[in-house]
Amino acid sequence: MTRAVLAPDTQSAHPPSRAIHGARQGCRFCGSALTHSVVDLGASPLCESYLAADQLNRMEPFYPLHVWVCDRCFLVQLEEYVSGEEIFSDYAYFSSFSVSWLDHARRYVDQMIDRLHLTAASKVVEVASNDGYLLQYFVQRGIPALGIDPAANVAKAAEERGVRTLVRFFGRELARELVEAGERPDLIVGNNVLAQVPDLNDFVAGLAILLGPRGTITLEFPHVHETLVGNQFDQVYHEHFSYFSLYAVERILAAHALTVYDVERLPTHGGSLRVHARHLDDDSKPVTGRLLDLRRLEQSAGIDTLAYYATFEERVRETKRALLDFLVRVKRAGKRVVGYGAPGKGNTLLNYCGIRRDFLDFTVDRNPHKQGRFTPGTRIPILPPESIREARPDFVLILPWNLKSEIVEQLEYVREWGCQFVVPIPELTVIP
Ligand SMILES: [Zn+2]
Repeated sequence: MTRAVLAPDTQSAHPPSRAIHGARQGCRFCGSALTHSVVDLGASPLCESYLAADQLNRMEPFYPLHVWVCDRCFLVQLEEYVSGEEIFSDYAYFSSFSVSWLDHARRYVDQMIDRLHLTAASKVVEVASNDGYLLQYFVQRGIPALGIDPAANVAKAAEERGVRTLVRFFGRELARELVEAGERPDLIVGNNVLAQVPDLNDFVAGLAILLGPRGTITLEFPHVHETLVGNQFDQVYHEHFSYFSLYAVERILAAHALTVYDVERLPTHGGSLRVHARHLDDDSKPVTGRLLDLRRLEQSAGIDTLAYYATFEERVRETKRALLDFLVRVKRAGKRVVGYGAPGKGNTLLNYCGIRRDFLDFTVDRNPHKQGRFTPGTRIPILPPESIREARPDFVLILPWNLKSEIVEQLEYVREWGCQFVVPIPELTVIP
């Protein structure tokens, strides 16, 4: 395949505008002009801006949700429509409300303690440590851990769990302060944070400054290859500035004298990568076979060609048509449909597809911080899970489809009255 020399999309139906001429801001990593659109999802509010009842008479800010790919480094990205400070200072997402995510965290901790031989003399730092969902397991095993998170409300929950947490944004400045204070961690953990970093170079430079000389950094992020192949357009929201391939992340780390030595493919968030990285000059950790395998897989898929990114938008539109088709059909037949979950990704789906109370009576969520509120933009009420038993709907639309097995199991009882589950992605599926 030809690398990066394909002509810009000339079949676009958009008028001559930024859709053809490119984004206003340059590539978040390499600064090149962004001229290649991956998908335009219209405009929607910030996906974690749940509304209280007394906000329903007010306007909501909507921002564009347009994904671009850089033709030099192949980083898939949004422009920074909203600042990180605005998004993350009072975050509604508490990691500990997902049972399967807690299991995932516990398994990771056990694995890393064994692999890196961590002891009470070691140090672990997690960037974007949320409510301490992960570091609590290090603390329980007597390994000193420090969390960093800019959201004071989740940090408070972490402290209550016994996890020391700094309420700060991470970058070069904080890394230098921590090094001066004697912190040189053996392990730095970054789970689902890299995607949310507006200033990628400042963040990765901070990791390189902070990491102990023989330390390991693990970073987890949804794999853009799975996002595109799996039609997971609802992974796109304003909080996710970047969407990474192994290809792109290796280049970004290399620019800061870090290098990937291993990678795991994980089922989380519809297919994620966990890269293990070290300082470039640390020769104690050889490159693994599975890293080489994944490099080959991406290469043969054409991850460094523009053609690879060109078919996504039409598949996304078809997913919308299929879901609306289904909803129109069952609503015409007088059926009741409710949602399960109010995740960030659900809000991208609901806003892009234009699904409001005309289709979903309500949705439910186990997170008490979301209950009693309304979904941003679409204003669907969020109720406690028990409401499904009272309402006895005909269909439950599962919004966090990545947790569908867990949810179908929890809601086993709805089969008593013949209710069925609907999963919208990768393609519309009804689970009887
Ligand atoms: Zn770039």
